[in-house]
Amino acid sequence: MKFLNNPIHRAHLLLACGLIVCLISGWRFRLMWTPEPLFPSSGLTEIKMLSDWHAPLANTVGDTEVYIFDSGVPGGTLLISGGTHPNEPAAYITSVVILENLQVEEGRVIVIPRTNAAAFMHNDSQEAMVQFYHLETPDGPRPFRNGSRVTAPVFQWPDPTIYINPRGDGFEEIQAKYEEAYPSLRGNPGPGRQMLAGIDSRNLNRAFPGTPNGTLTEQIAYAVTTLIREENVDLAIDYHEASPEYPTNNVMVAHQRAEGIVSWAELLISDDNMAIATETSSLQLRGLSHREWGDTTDALSVLFESANVAMGRMKGKTTEEQIVTGYDGAYVRVMHIQRLLNERLAARAAAADEAGRQVSERSRRILAVEVPNEGISMDERVGRHLQSTLRVVESYNDEHFDKPITFSGVPGIRDMRTSGVGMFLHGPDGSPPTGEIIPF
Ligand SMILES: [Zn+2]
Repeated sequence: MKFLNNPIHRAHLLLACGLIVCLISGWRFRLMWTPEPLFPSSGLTEIKMLSDWHAPLANTVGDTEVYIFDSGVPGGTLLISGGTHPNEPAAYITSVVILENLQVEEGRVIVIPRTNAAAFMHNDSQEAMVQFYHLETPDGPRPFRNGSRVTAPVFQWPDPTIYINPRGDGFEEIQAKYEEAYPSLRGNPGPGRQMLAGIDSRNLNRAFPGTPNGTLTEQIAYAVTTLIREENVDLAIDYHEASPEYPTNNVMVAHQRAEGIVSWAELLISDDNMAIATETSSLQLRGLSHREWGDTTDALSVLFESANVAMGRMKGKTTEEQIVTGYDGAYVRVMHIQRLLNERLAARAAAADEAGRQVSERSRRILAVEVPNEGISMDERVGRHLQSTLRVVESYNDEHFDKPITFSGVPGIRDMRTSGVGMFLHGPDGSPPTGEIIPF
């Protein structure tokens, strides 16, 4: 080991080791820069790019495919956004299932599976997340990237200490148009001026309605808002996932103008063996899709959330399997602790009632949703989003006879529970899906 006695030699050795680590991590990092292939159904009529609605995005990492399914029959237009937050896999996969199976009969459907393409190109740092997961199809496993909540910092840097989201335009006009009919829109402060953490400057779902000359994320937001306006989108749906402890979960968050159709959809879903609630979009929380699409365009906007243990703070080790099966032993233990805690609280409350004393707490929730022992699988999460989509569109059609949006080929929650998501995806080399839809 005489060689290492020389400090110059030691320094060279350390530098060489550092270089090897950089090369390996750089190579791993770059693996996420290649988009996985998607296979649109035969109903596809046109592929555009997001930059068609905001030219400066062309040839940037923020540009992404916009898939248009035009029936050629007059009707309404539905927008599906799948990848606003690429670390929410069931959100992305739901839009891919629609893209790969959809046949539109009346009106148009526009699908943007990778809405923030620049957030698919890395994953959340220091979270020990996996970069890829695979979904089993009859012809083999299909790889998908497990991206980040935010635009990759190599494309938008540095973050400000505090981010104040953009005001954008179009609000006054839309507000004046709808305020009379929707008293719940009165006192609406309009977009922007919301103080957020610096990292949210790269969060697409805090950047709406966006600005044409803002940051990359704000320009992506601007392009989406412009698309909604110029394509006269009637109904816009944005898919998301959240950790089981996050209070907004298993819900459809509706803009005030969409509340009617979404509440009716909730009622329809109550027959589908699936619990979901409706929440109204807050006037005070700015920059979110359901808020700003509804406030600055004519679209009825709604956002869906499902619960994903892989995103949770209480999770164990993140694995591909955890993302796909939704099983995590740590959450089984959390549910067990929650049950024990509530047994104690109930016993204490019963004793207090007997003694005629007041008791402050009768039950407590650690998690916002029930996580069953077997987990909440990708099939279940995608099924929830699909079923909610089918019912919201059905409910929309009940009210908008003049602008119908009808389609077939899209499976629902029963199909996901019976056959699994892989049966409704193309194989890794493009062989068509073989899943059969159970009529309902
Ligand atoms: Zn999200």
